[in-house]
Amino acid sequence: MDADEPDGRGEDELLGQAADAGIHRLAIPTPFQVGRVNAYLIEDSPLTLIDSGPNSGKALDELEQALAARGHAIEDIELLVITHQHIDHFGLSSILARRSGAEVAALDGLAPYLRAFGTSTELDDRFAQELMLRHGIPADVVTALRAVSASFRAWGSAVEITRPLHDGEELRLRDRTLRVLHRPGHSPSDTVFYDESRAILLAADHLIKHISSNPLLARPLGARPDYTGPRPRALVDYIASLELTRAMDLSLVLPGHGMPIADHVSLIDERFRMHRRRAERIHGLIASQPRTAHEIAVELWGNVAVTQAFLTISEVLGHVDLLLASGRVAERADAEDGVVRFQAV
Ligand SMILES: [Zn+2]
Repeated sequence: MDADEPDGRGEDELLGQAADAGIHRLAIPTPFQVGRVNAYLIEDSPLTLIDSGPNSGKALDELEQALAARGHAIEDIELLVITHQHIDHFGLSSILARRSGAEVAALDGLAPYLRAFGTSTELDDRFAQELMLRHGIPADVVTALRAVSASFRAWGSAVEITRPLHDGEELRLRDRTLRVLHRPGHSPSDTVFYDESRAILLAADHLIKHISSNPLLARPLGARPDYTGPRPRALVDYIASLELTRAMDLSLVLPGHGMPIADHVSLIDERFRMHRRRAERIHGLIASQPRTAHEIAVELWGNVAVTQAFLTISEVLGHVDLLLASGRVAERADAEDGVVRFQAV
């Protein structure tokens, strides 16, 4: 159990504040390293579920039990809201929608991606493969990782969005209004939901208390199938999104994993300091000799840079993008193999 928040409110008290607002955290199991994912049941009209958990029998079973503990069944769900494109959050959506007849809401730009989920992940994998090769990951590692990624696909499922949401619009329920805010960075489709009158933000993976959200490199929303570049600036986008959230008046943030957050400003400031420190460390490595993103990742994380190659080059490239933006680093592609190296300016 984590320590109390800086303002002295404990986790139970924060979950209690959410429950008083009719919002109940349902922690659903996932097969992934991140552990459980938070779905949130909003007891309002329509009866609303924010995220579903992954497409697995275990997740479905536990979700049913959690709903039953509050006197509901899956068939009672009237509105299902998807926060972003990661399978631990939306994988069960199509099953829940079919059984309940619920409307399914998500950011408008995400709808085509979710409708064609199989093709979307195939294109994501191809995009990731090219990016990994260009940034120095050995070809045999890239091939192995692609097989791993393909095996994960079963925890997702295509789903039809019947209620597309637009950035800035209001999602009205009987007892509350949620403002829909697009906050890209962790993924291109990150969407947060703001109850201004209660100062509560449903933030999904945009802000998590116990782990820093990885700004994963991903194909931009709506990109053509043959999209190869320019490289998305996920961390640059993420920091801009966090600045917007930092400026909000919030008493409670309900994240996609782990416990509620009472003091979002100090948590975001801590994240900013961490990213600055990491960018400086990477600058030091680049200043000592030109390196690929993968070579930098190996220096920083050793063997994890191989087993989690895409995650770690996403992390490195995000910080290199900050250094590129400030003009301290330059990027050069090898004329023969196209592999990119970064050097200090
Ligand atoms: Zn996520």
